[in-house]
Amino acid sequence: MTNQVIDNISATTGIWEGKTVLIVEDVESNYQFLAATLRKSKINIIWARSGEEALEWIHQDKPVDMVLMDVQLDGIDGYTATGKIKAIKPALPVIAQTAFAMKGEKEKSRLAGCDDYLSKPIRPSELIKTISKYL
Ligand code: MN
Repeated sequence: MTNQVIDNISATTGIWEGKTVLIVEDVESNYQFLAATLRKSKINIIWARSGEEALEWIHQDKPVDMVLMDVQLDGIDGYTATGKIKAIKPALPVIAQTAFAMKGEKEKSRLAGCDDYLSKPIRPSELIKTISKYL
């Protein structure tokens, strides 16, 4: 924990080198956006295209410091996947990516065990700021 809140890409150079984020996202362009935004930070990125793939990574106890969890997924949804992840790794930060800035989503993500949430479309500054609170 740095406890230092950062909110712009230029300030992220190399700061998360050695950390690993598991990005759970079924839409490639959304994944590419997240990966591009985080590139400068040198964080190691693992892409899971479904909740099932994400759970495989967790079950195999592979390195992971944070999860960016899309909520709308085919197969098991992001909230269900989060519950299963938290049952195995309760301290692992999970940030939900909700499709709409709907009023209930904040509460829903909290009830599902998510540590935080981001509403799509996600702004780079919001992504970086939220991650910096947990890494
Ligand atoms: Mn989706």
